[in-house]
Amino acid sequence: MIVFVIGGGPAGMMSALFAAQNGHEVTLFERNEKLGKKLYITGKGRCNVTNAADRDTFFAHILQNPRFLYSAYSHFDNQALMERLERAGVPLKTERGGRVFPASDKSSDILRAMERLVRDSGVTVRLNTRVDRVLAENGAVSGVVADGETLVCDAAVIATGGVSYPQTGSTGDGYTFAETLGHKVEPPLASLVALTTEETWPGELAGLTLKNVTLSAKREKGIIYSELGELLFTHFGVSGPLVLSLSGVIAAQPAGTHLMIDLKPALTREQLDARILRDLQQGARSQVKTALHALLPARLLTIVLEQSDISESLSVGELTKAMRQKLVETLKALPLTVSGARGVEEAVVTRGGVSVKDVNASTMESKRVKGLYFAGEVLDIDATTGGYNLQIAWSTGALAGDSIGK
Ligand SMILES: Cc1cc2nc3c(=O)[nH]c(=O)nc-3n(C[C@H](O)[C@H](O)[C@H](O)COP(=O)(O)OP(=O)(O)OC[C@H]3O[C@@H](n4cnc5c(N)ncnc54)[C@H](O)[C@@H]3O)c2cc1C
Repeated sequence: MIVFVIGGGPAGMMSALFAAQNGHEVTLFERNEKLGKKLYITGKGRCNVTNAADRDTFFAHILQNPRFLYSAYSHFDNQALMERLERAGVPLKTERGGRVFPASDKSSDILRAMERLVRDSGVTVRLNTRVDRVLAENGAVSGVVADGETLVCDAAVIATGGVSYPQTGSTGDGYTFAETLGHKVEPPLASLVALTTEETWPGELAGLTLKNVTLSAKREKGIIYSELGELLFTHFGVSGPLVLSLSGVIAAQPAGTHLMIDLKPALTREQLDARILRDLQQGARSQVKTALHALLPARLLTIVLEQSDISESLSVGELTKAMRQKLVETLKALPLTVSGARGVEEAVVTRGGVSVKDVNASTMESKRVKGLYFAGEVLDIDATTGGYNLQIAWSTGALAGDSIGK
């Protein structure tokens, strides 16, 4: 069969590889001058290629439509991927939280291995070729129009990604193809993205990273998120790993979420109060800010004192017990209110995309157009950080490619 794969990201490369291994004549179309531009920048250039979690833990990290992913994951899971990459000459290592990286810390090693596998399997790679339309006749896919040329195929995989980081080539073309051919496309939303806050004080701390803090989030129904990790203040609000993963949980409605940052998660309120008392006693003749200098970075201490209604110039002797209790409370639950999320173009992944209701979960084939398959972020599936999103692309790509002609 003549198979066209549209999009040379992780999902497209994997689809092309599996289809070619089954003897099909495969062409992979990529609009950029090279494959995997987004893959190259993943994990800050280190590529968190998957997560070594067991099955249950893995699925607990899939935020949108986890059940749809079951078949694809069973077909080609994290272990299968790791084995494949190691066999292709890329040693891997597993870090904290099960995050898997190339041992070299270079995403280019993953990219090069995938490219080699694709080319060695006989796939024709057409770079600098943007597919403009996907054609169907009598309910079956019939070809594509690429750079004004009409080309005929028996099957096609749409693996064009979402709409995040559009400079990497993912601009949502797949949504248009899918919609034109009668599929429902869920509106794209930002997932894994920085959040803006109603308060402006984070701007005064822009660039400050806090390691080992607990971020909790509360909505009407109570606490919906509480994790220990790293948080970054920005000129518009908050970012960093904790915030990105929270953003996935509140993607549908970020505004109005109440945040609490526990700046001293290792200490109970009583332990923290005792520590503060000790610091104050040692600096009994100084100002509160000076006495507490070891507690927090100076800029943050200023904000914490402000939020506790304690004047920076207050002397230790003037600090009342009630003031101290308020300070402990602020340190354990520094409050912020989310006003919104940054745009989807800034998000690590796009929530939304081709509705999984229009796709057969056992094959990735469209329920509307025969011979048309979907793989990767173009589908309405996404996960939290930790290598899960790439695994979605690898798994759905492998299943789509392997299902063609069967
Ligand atoms: C900064 C950043 C860091 C990330 N880090 C990680 C990480 O460490 N671990 C993790 O698991 N996930 C990470 N992700 C998410 C992950 O990169 C994506 O989920 C994944 O790349 C999706 O793969 P895909 O193949 O579906 O789509 P993409 O990688 O978006 O690939 C789609 C490809 O299709 C091409 N294309 C689009 N339209 C057309 C067209 N009309 N014709 C031809 N070609 C077309 C595009 O140019 C692109 O190359 C990160 C994302 C970002 C933005």
